[in-house]
Amino acid sequence: MYQAVIVGTGPTGLVLAHLLGSYGVKTLIIDKASGPVDEARAVTIDDESLRTLHATGLLSKILPNVVLGYGVHYFSWRNKLFAKIEPQSQEYGYPKRNAFRQQLLVKALSDALLDHEFVDQRFEHELLDWQQAAPSPALNLRLRHQGQELQVQTAWLVGCDGGRSLVREQLGISLNGSTYSEKWLIADLIGRHSAFRHTRTYCDPVRPAIRLPGPQTTVRYEFMLHPGEDPDACLQEPLVRQWIHDRNPEDAQLQILRKVVYTFHARVADVWRVGPVLLAGDAAHLTPPFAGQGMNSGIRDAHNLAWKLAAVVQGKAPEDLLDTYEQERKPHAWALIQMALRIGAYMQPKTRWGAALSQSLLKLVCQIPAARDYILHLKFKPKPRFAKGFFMALASGHTAWVPPGQLMPQPKVQLSSGELVLLDTLLGQGFAVLQWSHEAALPPGLVLPGLPCKTLRVIRHEDDFMQESSPQVLWVRDAEGVIAKLLDSAAASAVVLRPDRYVFAYLKL
Ligand SMILES: Cc1cc2nc3c(=O)[nH]c(=O)nc-3n(C[C@H](O)[C@H](O)[C@H](O)COP(=O)(O)OP(=O)(O)OC[C@H]3O[C@@H](n4cnc5c(N)ncnc54)[C@H](O)[C@@H]3O)c2cc1C
Repeated sequence: MYQAVIVGTGPTGLVLAHLLGSYGVKTLIIDKASGPVDEARAVTIDDESLRTLHATGLLSKILPNVVLGYGVHYFSWRNKLFAKIEPQSQEYGYPKRNAFRQQLLVKALSDALLDHEFVDQRFEHELLDWQQAAPSPALNLRLRHQGQELQVQTAWLVGCDGGRSLVREQLGISLNGSTYSEKWLIADLIGRHSAFRHTRTYCDPVRPAIRLPGPQTTVRYEFMLHPGEDPDACLQEPLVRQWIHDRNPEDAQLQILRKVVYTFHARVADVWRVGPVLLAGDAAHLTPPFAGQGMNSGIRDAHNLAWKLAAVVQGKAPEDLLDTYEQERKPHAWALIQMALRIGAYMQPKTRWGAALSQSLLKLVCQIPAARDYILHLKFKPKPRFAKGFFMALASGHTAWVPPGQLMPQPKVQLSSGELVLLDTLLGQGFAVLQWSHEAALPPGLVLPGLPCKTLRVIRHEDDFMQESSPQVLWVRDAEGVIAKLLDSAAASAVVLRPDRYVFAYLKL
């Protein structure tokens, strides 16, 4: 019997499988497809997802296929550049917006599961349905493999089975929100000559369009279809090439890898957990692609869920820890859906007057430095922060730069060897405590009895190493002053981080 079965080898299911495997959870991941899905979908991956991929241990295999740090240039209905988003800061350790190809990520994650100690991966295995194996709490799954039916038992089932989720359907959970009538055509091409790395968005009511350069000389074009336009007629190659030519003649004759018309949805599942069955990724929420966040939200789900499920499966935490998964993730996923809709509305002006007005307004607003900074550095993106969930909130009247329930920034810290490393590389897989070096050591098991917790003793930026690290205690220097900003703002001597690197609590010793 498996401790967990994951349905779906999309990015959500695969990241979850790797994280569960890293905690030693005996996991089966299945997909009805015959191999990793080769479909070109997501092309933008954010800093939070790269941080999660680092936690899977696979980032070095994935980065060669990522163009780190790309922005968006907005062009007016007169084809004039009128706004730019070019975020420079790396709050979470990586650039905020990066180009990649979903199919290459999925393949790398899937390949890395071959011969995994704890995770079995099976393609051509379709989930048909499941039943509780009464009187035991286990679930009996009915699968189809090459025309034959087979049964598998599991304690937990996670539906990462995409927008048309059978798991969600069998649970009778509704997807609330809207499906939009606007259709978009995407065309993926290869062999581009221009090295320009930023996305170009053409906010032109005549034909709203986007050009997204990607790795390996790829480039994606997206064009909005007008109401009544026939998708099949629009997919005719000469017309697609003409639209590309209208934007950038030099791209018009490139090899077309794929062209397809899609509609978009802004929906979220009513309930994300029913007993031992959970939903994650597109099965739980459908995000319009304008902000490039659908897959990123799914990867956030996987990181949030993995350590909680592992702790419950291994008897280290009570089952109701899993209720905090939906409590924490649903509002954030919905906030990103709303952001994507706002960006979409801006990109799809209905008339020239509307376009001229909204574009002039943005130009005007960008004259104000604070507003320009807000837009240029993507500060309108909802923060990875929970209002409710598994963390110890500050006492009323107290504040902190990064309150409990918010993702910890990831600075570089210095080792006694002089080497500068990203903080997460030192924190291990479980909870972690960052504590000033001069404070008395925390009693073992203080934070969460039974859960592994690693402590780092932090030397202030202005101080020097006076002791050698030992296998038990690692000394690091706060090279960028970020940990001082964090702890001093909360008047704390230590901060406890969850395995997904959200702040759990501040301690005053
Ligand atoms: C045009 C387009 C552009 C996009 N751009 C971006 C972007 O730039 N950035 C971004 O973050 N997101 C983007 N997205 C969204 C992103 O592609 C999805 O959010 C992401 O694929 C969801 O991943 P998932 O693992 O949750 O589900 P999926 O990738 O849909 O995977 C689900 C898997 O479940 C399997 N499955 C389904 N039912 C069963 C069953 N009964 N038994 C066994 N297996 C089953 C399927 O075969 C499939 O492999 C884009 C989407 C589109 C369409």
